[in-house]
Amino acid sequence: MSSKRIIIFVGLPGTGKGTLSNFCVSRLGWHQLSTGNLCRKHIADQTEIGKKIDFAIKSGKLVSDSIISEMVFDWLINSFESTEVVIFDGFPRTVAQANLLQDFLKNQIKGEPPVVSVVRLITPIEVVKARMINRIICGNKSCQAGYSIDKASGFCPKVDGVCDKCQSSLVKRPDDNDSSISVRLETYHNNETQLLKAFEQAGFGVMSLDANVPIETLFDELVQAL
Ligand code: ADP
Repeated sequence: MSSKRIIIFVGLPGTGKGTLSNFCVSRLGWHQLSTGNLCRKHIADQTEIGKKIDFAIKSGKLVSDSIISEMVFDWLINSFESTEVVIFDGFPRTVAQANLLQDFLKNQIKGEPPVVSVVRLITPIEVVKARMINRIICGNKSCQAGYSIDKASGFCPKVDGVCDKCQSSLVKRPDDNDSSISVRLETYHNNETQLLKAFEQAGFGVMSLDANVPIETLFDELVQAL
């Protein structure tokens, strides 16, 4: 069996995919591929792609399947060979993306195909809404670490408004406002059932974890489940 693994995190926006990914990166040396972070970096860099996707992102809409898939496939072409385990944080989000990924893995990856697992993180809607309203992120496009202004969350920065990791200023994400949050939640609901079906049809193992628990607990459960 191939030693390379792709682990796809799915779940409502705000469910903690990025936070859990960061844990896996720092504790297990896995790699995180966050399509949201890549999109925000394109916008900050004012690339041609960034200009095209800026409005969709702010409004909470999905970016086109082709733009997103190309970003992911570029990463796979350039970096997968030197990576053992990669977390896909935010991709695929549509059936079309899932099909494009399956085709890519079948036809474009040399050697043994990677083992693909899907981890579905489950969190109540009221919890994710509150997390997104309270979220601030590092404004440094190469960092984008996430924090909360909720003192009870355990994710407050050490110094108000300053990133613990790189000391840049913390900012609110432009899509963490009521109307964009509603669009994002609705989009997720509209896609989830078909997406999970597509994963199962592709032979990717799907498991579900309760993500409304302390992050340490969630991390332990993930490691055990995999
Ligand atoms: P969240 O999952 O909390 O909404 P992300 O940072 O993962 O946040 O994504 C932010 C935005 O980036 C999405 O609302 C969407 O506009 C864009 N995006 C990220 N991943 C995808 C994807 N796979 N397909 C289409 N758009 C995407």
